[in-house]
This record gives sequence, C-alpha cells and structure tokens, in this order.
Amino acid sequence: MSDIFGTMSAAQIHQGLASKEFSAAEMTDAILSGIDAADKSIHAFLQVTPDLAHEAAQKIDQAIASGDFESMGPLAGVPCAYKDNMNLRDTHTTCASKMLENYVSPFTATCVQDTLDAGCIPVGKTNMDEFAFGSTTESSVFGPTKNPWDQTRVPGGSSGGSAAAVAAGMVPVALGSDTGGSIRQPAGFCGVVGVKPTYGVVSRYGVVAFGSSLDQVGPFARNVHDAAEMLNAIQGRDPKDCTSQQSAKDFTANLDEGVKGMKVGVVPAFMESEGLAPEVKNAIEAAAKHLEDAGAELVEIELPNAKAAISAYYVLGPCEAFSNLARFDSVRYGYCDEGHKTLAEQYEASRAKGFGAEAKRRIMLGSYLLSANEYHNYYYPAQQIRTLITQDYQRAFEKVDVILGPVSPCTAFKLGEITDPATMYLFDMFTVPVNISGNGGMSVPLGLGKDSSMPVGAQLICPAFGDENMFRVAAELERCYGSNTVAPDFASAAQANASAGANASADGSASAAVSADDQKGGTR
Ligand code: GLN
Repeated sequence: MSDIFGTMSAAQIHQGLASKEFSAAEMTDAILSGIDAADKSIHAFLQVTPDLAHEAAQKIDQAIASGDFESMGPLAGVPCAYKDNMNLRDTHTTCASKMLENYVSPFTATCVQDTLDAGCIPVGKTNMDEFAFGSTTESSVFGPTKNPWDQTRVPGGSSGGSAAAVAAGMVPVALGSDTGGSIRQPAGFCGVVGVKPTYGVVSRYGVVAFGSSLDQVGPFARNVHDAAEMLNAIQGRDPKDCTSQQSAKDFTANLDEGVKGMKVGVVPAFMESEGLAPEVKNAIEAAAKHLEDAGAELVEIELPNAKAAISAYYVLGPCEAFSNLARFDSVRYGYCDEGHKTLAEQYEASRAKGFGAEAKRRIMLGSYLLSANEYHNYYYPAQQIRTLITQDYQRAFEKVDVILGPVSPCTAFKLGEITDPATMYLFDMFTVPVNISGNGGMSVPLGLGKDSSMPVGAQLICPAFGDENMFRVAAELERCYGSNTVAPDFASAAQANASAGANASADGSASAAVSADDQKGGTR
C-alpha cells in the first residue's frame, strides 16, 4: 500500500481522501512505513514525527466524517516534510550541525505553520548541508543523503533531504530553503520540481538564517501543480519577517494556458559556458525548441554581469553567515563545551567543536571580508556587482516574460567526488545570480541526460513578483517531459500507469542503483 501512496501526487492524495477511498490514518501509516523502508538507504530524514503525523491525520479523518473536509483547501491531508533549518514546535531543528544537535524548537516557523493550517500532515525533518552551506548534503554531521536515482551520487544540496524524499516517493511535497541554489539545484539533481520564489514572497520567520538578504523558502513537488499549491499556501506578508511582502496569488491559475505569445529569454553566453556538460546543453536546447514549438517566441538576451555572480555571492553569503551565526555562542544557543575557566575560552571551544569545516570556513571568511581593512576591497564592490546584476535582469525582463537556462552545469556528481570547496562553489554559477537579484527561479525536470542517465533540470527565472510566469512555462515543459516521476528503484508498478510520459527523456533509463544498506534510517 505504501508504494501506491508513495507514487501519488499531493492532489491525488487529497482527492482520495475526499472521495473516501482511504482514510488519513491509513494513508499516514503507509507513508510512514514507506519512509521507514526507503530511508534505510537514502537517509533523507533526520527526524520522523509519527506522533505529529498521527495527530494531524486524526483531525483530517474527523473533518472527513463531519463533512468539513470539503471546505478545506487542496493541501488538506497531504503529507509534507521540512528541511531541518525550519522550526516545528517540539521537534529538533539541528541544521544538520553538532551545534544544534540537542536544540528543540519552542515555536513553529511561519512557512511550516502555513502548511499545517492548510491541513498538511507533518511527517518529519529532512537532511541538509550543515547550516545550508553546500551543494551535496555531504556536510551534514549526521551523514550524507543519497540520490534516489543512483545511490552512489549526491542528491544535491543544501536541501538534499527534501529533494530526495520527494524523488523517492517518501512524501509528495516538502519545503526547502534557497540562498544560492539550495532548492533548485537538488530539485534538478533529483528530477523533481523545486521553486525559489521572488525574495519576499515567503516569510523566513522561524527558518535559521544563513544570508538574510538572499534566503528564500520554497516547495519541492513531483509536479508543477502541487508546487504551485504549496506556494499558494506559504506566500504572503508576515509581520514577523519585515522583508515579506503582501502576496495572495493563485499560482495554479495559468497552468493550462500554454505559452503561445510568451517571450522566453535564452542566454547564449550561458550555453557557451566553460564546464557546461554537453548533455545539459542539449537538454536545455531541446527544451527551448519545445517551447518554441508550443508557440513561445525565443529571444536572445544578455546578462553581462552574471559572470561576476559567483565572486559576489561568495563574499556576500559568508559576510551575512558570519553575522547570523554569531548567535551560536554556547550561552544563548547551541553546543556548550563545559569546564572552561573563562567565557572567552568557552566560546572558542564550543564554536571550534560545534561547527563543521565548511561553517568555520565561511565564518572566518566573512569575518575577514568585513574587517575594517578589507571591507572596501570586498564587501563594498560585491554590493556594487549586486546592483549591476539586478539591473541586468530588469533590462532583460523589459524584453521577455521568463528566462530559460540550466540549473547546474552538470548532473549529480558522485558522493565524495568534489572535495575542493572552490571547485564546488563554481557549480553554483547559474543559480546564485538569481538570489543576488532577488528574482524568482525554479527547476523543472527535463528527463534524463544522455550521458549520465541522471535527471537534468531546466531553470526558469521570472521578473520580480512575476512568479506566475515561470509556473506557466513550467507547466508547458511538464506536458512535454511528464510529471510525477518517482526514481525507478522506489516506484511501484502503480507508478507506471500513473504517469504517462514520465521517465520520457532523451534516450536513457536510470542507472541501476547499488544496494546501500549501510545507512541508518529513521532518526538522524
Ligand atoms: N551551494 C550554495 C552555497 O553553498 C547554496 C547554498 C544554499 O542555497 N543554501 O552557498
């Protein structure tokens, strides 16, 4: 039974509950045992929350019995997982760090609460790179997550646990956060939809801050419609996050409209980028052709300052992280190394032992870059580049409705393949400009790459607060490439019927996944 639910979309689960094909209790039990089984090898979850899930399921079953379910929204009864940098009251929020290993949330993040208010069933917290620094989920102190399409590969990061949980059919939807690509890149690597809305569309209150001028929360799903429903639920002004904006759109509204008459920007310079894998280049060119065939006009645009984005991001990000992570001082928050004579010694020892290597690297870098002597050499010019990049997008969106390009220069790399941080940073070249400018971006699956047989994602970028534009184009790509694809090792026979056109790709099929029973499942 769990297989069946594992391959159902959020909308199908909601519909099944509405028509009383199954109860919320039954479905929740099956989802939880599906997580139990799949997570032994994938390790997408740091904590599973059966008590909270059962409690929420009971409320849904009561609503069904009393007839109130019909008036609940489309996410009522839908199981959801949350990246472990999001507070959910009475659960651990570890940020995959020793620093917060024992931290229990006294409150719930607004984005999480919004999904609960919409009737979602909270099933657990997902693995991530420590404090969201990374692109592979390998820096989690609790061990890496594996890519459900090939368990010798990374799921991407930093929201790798959320992406993998959705790709393996453990949950239909999940939330992640994206500071420089951490929703879009893992979505691309795992073959699911991942949305980083325009900065300000979703509240970050209760989400552990990394780079406050860059961070944005967004959904993962196996189809565009489910992702749109999730964004509908979490969008809007929150008095507790002063950067959040009024937003009350229906992102599902134009999914069936097609792209006729739309102008889709393509960036020739991106397609000539050094390091862009031929299979990714081919897939993006094919996607552009599909959109053209469907009636969109392709318009070549320039984003001349995008080439400076990595340099600017790896100044701005660490500067903000340095400041945000100052609160983990072993007194107010976090791991405490006890027994020291002075407070300074306690701070030093606690932070030295509580943070992992990448977190320390960014803290030290941020501290240096913001120091009196260096500020004008790094932080200040990075902010100037930020303005130039933002203006590039503004100019581009005078000509086009959406920009199409790659999410990442390649498909998912092997676990342990990239160890040099500077090399790893370069793989963020297509995602970070969008955080720097604040525009919205999303990753949409294009099937499997011809060489690696791993998922390839297309990135769609929208004008600020024009997120509906990218959903509309994403829906067109989905009509072409299929939806609701669960990674083959985790898909049941039921899935084959459920998703016509899914797995349709270039020519490949997924690589045979190796058996990997070496990971402890369930909790952390
Ligand atoms: N890979 C990027 C980084 O390491 C993005 C991280 C993120 O979006 N949280 O900074």
